[in-house]
Amino acid sequence: MESILVLAHADESGAALSKGSLEAVTAGQELAARLNAEISVGIVATDAAKAASAVSRAGARVLAVAGEAFAQARFASDAAACEALCRAAKATIVIAPQSSRFARVMAAVAHRFGGFVDTHITAIGGTEAVEATRWFYRQRIEAVVSREKRPWFLLVDAGTHEAFAGESGEAPFERVAVELPAMRTNVTGVRAPKQDEQTIRPDAKLLFVAGAGWTKKQPDGKTHVDEAGNLILQFLHASGASLGSSKSLVDQGGEGNSVLPFLTHLNQVGQTGSTPRHAKGLATCCHGEEPHVVGWRFIGERRAVSLDANCGWTRGKADVVYVADAFAVMAKVNELLNRGA
Ligand SMILES: Cc1cc2nc3c(=O)[nH]c(=O)nc-3n(C[C@H](O)[C@H](O)[C@H](O)COP(=O)(O)OP(=O)(O)OC[C@H]3O[C@@H](n4cnc5c(N)ncnc54)[C@H](O)[C@@H]3O)c2cc1C
Repeated sequence: MESILVLAHADESGAALSKGSLEAVTAGQELAARLNAEISVGIVATDAAKAASAVSRAGARVLAVAGEAFAQARFASDAAACEALCRAAKATIVIAPQSSRFARVMAAVAHRFGGFVDTHITAIGGTEAVEATRWFYRQRIEAVVSREKRPWFLLVDAGTHEAFAGESGEAPFERVAVELPAMRTNVTGVRAPKQDEQTIRPDAKLLFVAGAGWTKKQPDGKTHVDEAGNLILQFLHASGASLGSSKSLVDQGGEGNSVLPFLTHLNQVGQTGSTPRHAKGLATCCHGEEPHVVGWRFIGERRAVSLDANCGWTRGKADVVYVADAFAVMAKVNELLNRGA
């Protein structure tokens, strides 16, 4: 019989479980129910009692590694914590969020047990055996993987499961002791852009894509890059959308052309960019070519604003296309958003 362990870590507060961790709890619960297997949740947090309360109704044995040493994401302490939790749970299947914190340590933890790790899992199925689904070749081939090797570690992609949301209450949990190795790294602070400057927002409902058209000559024969930048930033601010870009637009920076200063290659969506997950997407000034649209695989409802009535979006890539000037459309949308309409 499999013994399932969900590894979960706290968010920046040190006491609340991250959303990805709660999604992993759901994945673990569903698998445990199908296999009729035992499930444990292993928590890495500063304040274990508070973090454990979020999973008090998960029907799982709760184990926790806690203390100041685990306030920061650091390879040595996180790997030791995960190892101790796996040992305590005698886990054969370990499910964890594909967060930067756990993705960094999980291959090493699997290696310490002579186990196997698979990353970017999007679904876990199977009733007799465990079957993990993931995409290969830039999200073009979907594979279902099963393995004999145990323990088997599965890092689950964010946004693929509902976050576990049971009522929180006092939860009995078992404290697991960790022998920490000598640690060379101490995180003395975090330097991050202000929330307003952070344009990539994986949890946003809407993906707003800017294409190269924003910086091209418009019908008056001139470019309007500053106006484009203002319209896009105003919209992101008012809507909370995440900002994506076509490759042509982000590449312009390398050619010495005038570009939108808040865009980097991290914003690029597509075959050689990212494949984000959002409920809705709105493309503006973008042609909708296949290498770009392949990055929209996990976008639910797709809309586009393009001047070109013959663009890729109109050829079946979008649900709704507005053949219109995006400058005018976004100015009107911003006006409505600011009015609270
Ligand atoms: C191997 C390979 C990998 C690639 N990978 C990627 C990738 O990962 N991501 C990616 O995006 N691309 C990728 N590309 C490039 C891709 O094929 C396209 O060249 C690129 O997506 C085009 O970007 P665009 O639509 O923004 O620009 P353009 O093709 O220049 O289109 C601009 C559009 O804006 C419209 N427009 C202009 N002004 C306005 C206005 N005022 N209002 C409304 N619309 C307006 C125009 O009508 C036009 O349709 C790849 C290409 C190759 C060969």
